[in-house]
Amino acid sequence: MTDIDKSRLAGFYRQLQRQAQDGGYFLNPDSGFAMELAESLLINQNRYGYQACPCRLADGERELDQDIICPCDYRDEDLGEYGACYCALYVSKEVAERKKQAGSIPERRPPDPADRAKRKPVPSAPGTGLSGLAYPVWRCRVCGYLAARDTPPGVCPVCHAEKDRFELFMPGGNTR
Ligand code: SF4
Repeated sequence: MTDIDKSRLAGFYRQLQRQAQDGGYFLNPDSGFAMELAESLLINQNRYGYQACPCRLADGERELDQDIICPCDYRDEDLGEYGACYCALYVSKEVAERKKQAGSIPERRPPDPADRAKRKPVPSAPGTGLSGLAYPVWRCRVCGYLAARDTPPGVCPVCHAEKDRFELFMPGGNTR
C-alpha cells in the first residue's frame, strides 16, 4: 500500500506510454510490471523531488543522482545490448512484441562517481572541429539529441529528459 493516488498513477502511466511512443521507445509489455515501476518512480518523485531509478540506490542529491534520473543515462546502451533497461521498464521493439525475451541486465553504472563523470563526452575545444558556430550545441546525455541554441531545451523532444540532463557539446559564438 502506497500513498500514490491511483488516478495520478494512471495519468503518469499514460504519459510514459505516450512519451515512449512519440520517441520511438517501448514500455515493458507486462503492463502490471511496468505500472509497478511507474508507481516506484512517483514514490521517488515524492521522496527526492525527482524520479530516481526505482532499481538503484539513490543518494538523495539531484547532482549525484543525475545519471539515474529516469530515463537514466544508461537506458539506450542497455536497450541496444540487452533489449531492456536495467529496471526493464523500457524494452526493445522485439521484446515489446514478445519476439524475444530480455535477459538479465548487468549494472552499467560505474560505482565510483568520478568514473561516472568520465563517461561524459569531452566537448570540442574552441577552434577545433565545427568552429565559428552561431550557437552553442547542447547534447542530451540520455539519448544524444543535439540542439544548437543559447540554452539547453527545457525538455528533450526525443526522450523527454529534463534541461539539466543536457551538457555543452560544442561552444558557439553566443556562449555566455
Ligand atoms: S530507464 Fe529504466 S533503468 Fe533507467 S532509470 Fe528508468 S526505469 Fe531505471
